[in-house]
Amino acid sequence: MSHWYQLEAAQVVAALDTNVATGLSHQEVSRRRSQQGSNKLVESALKSPWLMLWEQLTGATMLLLLVAAIVSMALGDYKDTAAILAIVALNALIGVNQEYRAGKAIAALKKLAVPTVRVCRDGQWEEISAHELVSGDLVNLVAGNLVPADCRLIESNALRVQESTFTGESEPVEKVVYGLTQGALALSDRRNMLYMGTVITYGRGHAIVTETGMQTELGNIARLVQEADQELTPLQHRLEKLGQKLVIATLGVVVVIFGLGLLRGESLQLMFLTAVSVAVAVVPEGLPAIVTIVLAIGSKRMLEKQALIRKLPAVETLGSVSVICADKTGTLTENCMTVTVLEVIGQRLNLEPAQRAIHHEPLDGAMSTLVAGCALCNDALLLSHATQAHQAHVLGDPTEAALVVAADRLGFAKVMLEQSFPRVGEIPFDATRKRMTTIHQVISSQLNGMQTISIPPPLQLSDHVEPHTTHHTPYLAFTKGAVANLLEVSSHLWVQDHVEPLQDEWRDRILTSNSDLAATGTRVLGVACGWLESVPVGQARAVEQNLIFIGLVGMLDPTRVEVKQAVETCKAAGIRPIMITGDHPLIGRHIAEQLGILTHDRVLTGAELDQLALETFAEEVQAVSVYARVSPEQKLKIIQALQAHGQIVAMTGDGINDAPALRKADIGIAMGRSGTDVAKEAADMVLLDDNFATLVAAVAEGRVLYDNIRKFIKYSITGNASGVWVMLLAPFLGMPLPLLPIQILWINLLADGVLALALSVEPAERNTMQRSPYSPTENVFSRGVGRDIVWVGLVLGLVIVWIGYEYWAAGQASWQTLIFSVLAFSRMSLALAVRSDRDSLFQIGIFSNKPLLVAVVLTFLAQLAVVYVPSLQELFQTTALSFQELMVGLAGSMTAFWAIELQKLLVRRRSFCRHCG
Ligand code: ADP
Ligand code: MG
Repeated sequence: MSHWYQLEAAQVVAALDTNVATGLSHQEVSRRRSQQGSNKLVESALKSPWLMLWEQLTGATMLLLLVAAIVSMALGDYKDTAAILAIVALNALIGVNQEYRAGKAIAALKKLAVPTVRVCRDGQWEEISAHELVSGDLVNLVAGNLVPADCRLIESNALRVQESTFTGESEPVEKVVYGLTQGALALSDRRNMLYMGTVITYGRGHAIVTETGMQTELGNIARLVQEADQELTPLQHRLEKLGQKLVIATLGVVVVIFGLGLLRGESLQLMFLTAVSVAVAVVPEGLPAIVTIVLAIGSKRMLEKQALIRKLPAVETLGSVSVICADKTGTLTENCMTVTVLEVIGQRLNLEPAQRAIHHEPLDGAMSTLVAGCALCNDALLLSHATQAHQAHVLGDPTEAALVVAADRLGFAKVMLEQSFPRVGEIPFDATRKRMTTIHQVISSQLNGMQTISIPPPLQLSDHVEPHTTHHTPYLAFTKGAVANLLEVSSHLWVQDHVEPLQDEWRDRILTSNSDLAATGTRVLGVACGWLESVPVGQARAVEQNLIFIGLVGMLDPTRVEVKQAVETCKAAGIRPIMITGDHPLIGRHIAEQLGILTHDRVLTGAELDQLALETFAEEVQAVSVYARVSPEQKLKIIQALQAHGQIVAMTGDGINDAPALRKADIGIAMGRSGTDVAKEAADMVLLDDNFATLVAAVAEGRVLYDNIRKFIKYSITGNASGVWVMLLAPFLGMPLPLLPIQILWINLLADGVLALALSVEPAERNTMQRSPYSPTENVFSRGVGRDIVWVGLVLGLVIVWIGYEYWAAGQASWQTLIFSVLAFSRMSLALAVRSDRDSLFQIGIFSNKPLLVAVVLTFLAQLAVVYVPSLQELFQTTALSFQELMVGLAGSMTAFWAIELQKLLVRRRSFCRHCG
């Protein structure tokens, strides 16, 4: 069979049994789906629970325990063997449960991150997840889309694709629709094919899906590359390193305990089991797992707040963000625009935003050209007529939507205009040119026989142009965009009924008018037109030149109400908000001032930025908080300068050209609504509602998560340390082995179970967003964590040994059970005490983390069961404690709680005194 690229479009359509007008039927789609499966590269990201169980059981600590069980069995101690095996099983179950839940949360996020694609089925266009495509599907692709499957292009409007995934070539190639029949071609020469994983950078087109999932060229590559394991986040890496250090330290401790025991004449077997148990208890093998869970829980919570995490490590970095660079339109403003003013030479029309009435006086002269240009050079689609429905329904970019609605209200319906001026070509908007052009045939200058549109006559071009090329100029091009950029490519001016050369004086007047409007917060676009000999296929430069400038349109885009508060939150949290806009510097200043972002009264434009020497800019970047008329390329420069100052930069973006900046930023953030697939693909996080306030909320959530991980570390290692102190110190007092192996393992189980999980959902602290961000590379033991682990662990250990010693010396049989219980209970008091880094438990309220309260009760009951239920007594070799002993045990365990509360009190005192000066 010949390849798809060798066939003509019609042959492809026939071979795939589809239809260029209506696409596949839904019935056919479900048939093909069951045959072809999902359009995914690797099936099922979720590990099976059995595999998880296997991995749990073959982990180093588990193997150690299994060896211990075997040794006990060989020595004929079946009771111990059973107990150890039970512990192994419980540990493994807890591990699998936690991993499974985290895995599910992460998989759910991945699913949400799949791009959507516009597909035509049963003659209806709809938007579906790219996973649901089948071969034969008719898809619509536009600039900014990722190619969702391998496709044959059948209709193209200057479609260009960047195929560096396959070819390594970053220059986009223009695609064609005809068959390439000359024989076998390399992938890069198959110019009528689109391959999954490549990027549409320009234009638009229709294509038929030829291959999906692993059948695609990308699938072929994916098959070759082994599926990479889930990568560890930076924090997990550091914790793993910490774990390795702890293993070495543990070995030392274990050897000492082992030696001391033997010296005192304990049996080799008992000491072996003890050594293994201590090792298992001290090595924080659960740390990386708990971090994954905390991150997964956190990303779920962020999703509820409309922030979708695409890359898990981003959750960690979020909390450390020190600068947020945000787009203006859509992020800081509503992106819900209304045209308020139209201006041509000698005439100005104000439209009251509140006033819904239709303007009845027919427009004429340049004003009619302006309004027609606004609606024609426009990709928005008006669904219901503004006159009928009170509120018009529009699809498309909000700027363009505003223009179509305004034109409609003035009696220039877009559908009518397009009948008189059908579009035959276009040069899409891009953020660097800051303008777009559409090319139209002129069938009639009358609109539905009612409105007349004045059209500037063709320019009398210079004498060098040969006459026969100028006498017939059938195509009219409209260009709209940033006023200054448009003036650069305009040579003439449309004044009511005649065209005159654009003198410098006129330019100045237009620019003044533009800045006056911008200074009041009005977003301004200019519109121009020009005549063309033919529909060009080439570059924008050939078309966008010698234009006739028509006039200005001003529109208002209110700032989002939540943003002002969010900006204040940022500042209180030591995070600098920066606005980066493609818009006019004056409107940038106006909005930044309204929101409290403007500092030092400085606004830097992209052009000024390019002129600054690198060192000067590196200085400036510390002071400037508003950047205007910035191109996506300049965003990179801003990020680099900020990062050179050690800032952790979050940057928003939506366009195709924003991808490099999003990658370069510490946290790249794409817009969920207005963002392109390319931007989303490059981003670490997607703001589903495009809102700056959401971003700030996500940062707050990131801080909480990081705090909670540190709290868990403090809780876990302090508890372990106290156990080690007990094991180490007791022999020096002449006491026998204070804890049996099975008891150590039990405490380990209690500590890593529900208590740990409940700690990971601890809510935000009062001051989470009132302190400066922490460095993402700070030591996990910094800011008191290490200090508390050392002294609280030691004090708790001493108290426990002391209680045990008193009872042992008094000849009480219950002394060992007491030590065992105090240790178990102290995990609960530790968990309660570490909930806040600063405030006492009584300040934050004991009920403010209910899961933890439940966990404490469960843990307490479990420990009581081990002490009082006869069969468990036998297994754990405990004796029932008297009520008085139980109370002593509880009181002793509170040592941990009071020690940490005392520490917090001192910290509060100290910072209070600092405040008084
Ligand atoms: P922002 O940074 O506020 O999001 P944009 O990057 O969207 O601003 O727009 C930058 C400039 O590009 C605008 O000031 C406007 O002049 C021009 N522009 C934006 N959208 C369009 C459009 N659809 N057609 C033509 N020009 C546009
Ligand atoms: Mg924008």
